[in-house]
Order: sequence, then C-alpha cells, then structure tokens
Amino acid sequence: MRILKTVLVVLALSALPLRAAAQQSSALDQVVDRIIIQEQAEMNSLRAFAPMVETYIQNLKGDKDLGVVPAGDKYFMGRAVLAKGVELEPLTEGDNSGGTRKKIFGGLGSMFSLSMEYLPRGFLQMIYLDTNGFDKSHYKFDYVRREFLGEVRALVFDVTPLPKAGKGRFVGRIWVEDQDFHIVRFNGAYGGGSRTNYYFHFDSWRVNSGPNLWLPAFIYSEESDLNYAVAKRLSFKAQTRLWGYNQSASTQEQELSKILIESQTPVKDQSSTANDINPIMAQRNWDRQAEDNVVDRLERLRLMAPVGEVDKVLDTVVNNLEVTNNLDIQPEIRCRVLLTSTLESFTIGHTIVFSRGLIDVLPDEASLATMVAHEVSHVVLGHRIDGQYAFFDRLLFDEKDTFKHFGFSRTQAEEDAASVKAVELLKNSPYKDQLTTAKLFLDALQSREKEIPNLISPHLGDRVPVNSTLASAVTPSSQTPGNASPADPKASAQSQIVALPLGGRIKMDPWSDKLLMLKSKPAGAVAEREKMPFEVTPFMLYLTRETNNSTAAAPGAISADSKTAVEKVPQQ
Ligand SMILES: [Zn+2]
Repeated sequence: MRILKTVLVVLALSALPLRAAAQQSSALDQVVDRIIIQEQAEMNSLRAFAPMVETYIQNLKGDKDLGVVPAGDKYFMGRAVLAKGVELEPLTEGDNSGGTRKKIFGGLGSMFSLSMEYLPRGFLQMIYLDTNGFDKSHYKFDYVRREFLGEVRALVFDVTPLPKAGKGRFVGRIWVEDQDFHIVRFNGAYGGGSRTNYYFHFDSWRVNSGPNLWLPAFIYSEESDLNYAVAKRLSFKAQTRLWGYNQSASTQEQELSKILIESQTPVKDQSSTANDINPIMAQRNWDRQAEDNVVDRLERLRLMAPVGEVDKVLDTVVNNLEVTNNLDIQPEIRCRVLLTSTLESFTIGHTIVFSRGLIDVLPDEASLATMVAHEVSHVVLGHRIDGQYAFFDRLLFDEKDTFKHFGFSRTQAEEDAASVKAVELLKNSPYKDQLTTAKLFLDALQSREKEIPNLISPHLGDRVPVNSTLASAVTPSSQTPGNASPADPKASAQSQIVALPLGGRIKMDPWSDKLLMLKSKPAGAVAEREKMPFEVTPFMLYLTRETNNSTAAAPGAISADSKTAVEKVPQQ
C-alpha cells in the first residue's frame, strides 16, 4: 500500500514537467515552422520587385587619434532584378568595380572576385538569409528572448547551421515580428567552409511598407579582420540601401483619371484677355518645360524623391536668402532631393537639387544655407538648362544610360561666379554670423578628399563647391569655433561637429521613396572618435508598422508660407 502510493507520487511529479517541456518544444517547433514558411513566401514575393540598390564602401586604416579612418572608397548603384535571383543591372560605371559581369567565385555570399575587387552582387545577396535551404534540415533554432525594435515586438532566435549543412550557410541571430512571423532583421555572417572562401559580417534590415509587406532596405556590413592572400588586410565598412520598390506609375494614372473627370466640364473661353506669349515668355516657358521634363524623368527613374517635407526645409532656406537679398525670382525656385548618397548638388533651370547624402552630412542650417546660396546664385546669374530637354525624344533613353545621358555640371567659370555671388547673398542673410561651421565643413571635406573620392564624385551635378571666397564672409565675431549661435552657450570647440556621418538626417521609405527628417534626440557630448565625419556607421532602425501604403506624415512645424518673413528651419 505504502509502496504503491510513492510510485503514484513519483509518476505525478514527473508527468508535469515532461508535458510542459513537450508543449514548449512544440510551441517552438510551430513558431519555427511559421518563420520558415513566411521566409519562403518573402523570397517568392520579392521576385516581383526591381528596387534600386546602392552600396557605398569605405576601406579603413588605423589612426592613432581617431581609431580608424576611411582610406579609399567604392560606390555602386544599380537596379536589382529580383525575378532573376540576385541579379543587378549597373547604373554606375568607371568606379573600377568592373561591373557585374565578372564571375563570382566561391559560391553563396562571396563578395570578392578573384582579383579581390568588391562585387556589387555580393552586397545585394545580403537581403536574403539563405535562398537554398532555410529549413529545419539545415538549421538549428534557439529562442533567445523577446525584444522591441522600435514599435515592433520581435522574437529573437539564434540560428546555426546543422553539421553537414554545407558551405555558405547563415550563422547569427534573427528578429521575427510576432504578428505574421516575418524576419525583420538578421545579423551574422555566411559561414565559409574553407580558408579560400571570404566571408564577412552583416546586419540586414527589412522595413514594413504595408500589410504583410516587409522590404529589405538597409544593410550594414563590415569586416575588420579579413585576411586575404595571407598577409594583406582588407578592412571595410559598407552601407547598402534599397528603394524604389513601388514601380507602378500610379501618380500618373491617378492624374489621368482626374483629368478625364474634369474634361466633362467645359473649357472657359479665355480669348478676351492678354494671353498671347511674347518671345521672352516663350523662352521661359521653353526652359520650364525642359526643367519639368528632366525632373519628371528623374523621379520616374527612382533617382529623385517625390515632393515632400525635406524639399520644404530647403525651400525655407531659399526663401530666407531671397527675402534678405530682395530677390524676386520668376518662375519661383523649387527644391528637390536626389536619392543618392553621393555628395552633389545642381540646378536644372529654377529647380535646385541636393543629394540626400549631402543634406545628411551638413552640420547645421547655416552650412546648408551656404550650399543653397551657391545654387541660388546659378539661378540669379541666369545659368540656364540645356534647352534640348524640352524636346521629348531627349527624355526617352535606356535606364542604364541615365548618368551618361544626363549631366548638369557647370563650367569652371560658372562655378567660380556662383561661389562669388553666394558669398554676396550670404552676407545679407540671417546666416551671416554663423558661417564658421560652414567654413569648417568645407575644410573637413577638403582634408578628406583623397580618402573618399567616390563619395564626393557626382553622377549628375557638381561636386560640393570648395568656396575659397567663403573665408571672407566669416565675420570676426563668429570666428570663435562653436560660438556660432549666441542662443547656444553650451556649444564649445570640443562639442563642435563639422560634418555628420552618412545618413545623419534623412530617412527614406523604400516603397514610396518619400523622405522624412529623422527625429532623434541630440547625442549629447560627443567624443572625438565618435564624430566620424563622412563615415559609414551601422544602421539601427526604429521599426514601425505601416497600416496603409500612404506614409504621408505631418511635416510638423514647417510652414511654406509667403515670402514675408525669415523662417527658421526646425532643428532635428
Ligand atoms: Zn555650382
């Protein structure tokens, strides 16, 4: 009797944990199954897209004061044809990358050719975790914890290839959002099987752009201890960005349906008023048409962001320069943003274009104003757009020839004239006492010139004008570094940041290409080694869920009001 009872107790005690363990492992199994199915679906659905891909690589060298600094760079841009796997149609050339035609050696995840050149496709590869065998027969999944990535709650797993899973398998950690089990981030490496296989580390992010739509958008990669050919060390940091997923010409089609509705109302007879066009107006209209054509084409090529909040920031600065210089420019100046990371700016008629990359690295509003003043000067001096773009056949060309076809760079004479005029405009402007940082920015850019040649090489416009006359505009009162703004007494030479790391200001929606100003808290005191001017830094995204595809956000306090008052660009 007594013995039997004990046995029952033992059975009762052991039965519970056993069942709980079984439940736990089946829960894990179920979640892992869902992740695998979802990742398969993700890879299939991505085949429908042909996003733009841009990779910027900085080689690194040691520096006794700053840790590591850039030592040479590479830039690739192209369109990914995901329907064909990891296929890339290059837009850039002449960057010594040798295009993509060279044979990739070493299989999955290899990023170098035999001659140790970077291969753009190797970076594009990192949008996928494993295209051939992401399943339980090749991988082991260990649940780590739950974690928030911004607003998105994610389950975190460690993923390791099983023995004999083969070469080039992913090793690292994945973050899986907890509603539909999409992998939203993976961080690790493709493991090489042998010493001849070069591998590297990366952190790949996907961004939500609608229900069940997570798009690969940002990849940070680096290698700090990569031995090749035994002794030569190749260390680098790289950022890869993808955008332009939404390929539909929806804007144009929406416009067409609107026009068709409008056309049912009769056209007003305007013959009684003075509507004939004189030759000067005709020339202006002709130029405006050329300008509109180019802007429209650049937007359709997914090289230019749609009209948005960042344009308004630039418009504000243009307004401030015009008001204080009593300028009345007709037709009105418009500002647009090129989506690339390269530092460049140009004018197309009365449209001023800044690259995202340039706006990103500028340290403050006054230095932005310095760049804007240069472009406004081109307009004021009447440096015109090539009128040939008013002929529509000039706009019909193959996408891969974009950079060959379009070029908006100026002659040296026009550049010099604009730089002189810019200083004149700045001297009358509200920025006149704050030009020290702008000067320091240009100095910093000049001193880094040799290390970042591809970042500062424009594809469409002019490189950042090194304005030698700017020094004359820097007033003695503003020459104390960091004392640019009396409203900011805490600023000191130590905390002075003369140029930001790449991606410091603007965030991009990979679906719609819309740009928004980053809303981050100030970093506080920044050590010298943390400043990293013009440098590549990791991506750390604040993920959100998009409930519909319209990502229009309130532009906040920016007002695009009439030219009556000097406006303040909102600080980030
Ligand atoms: Zn210029």
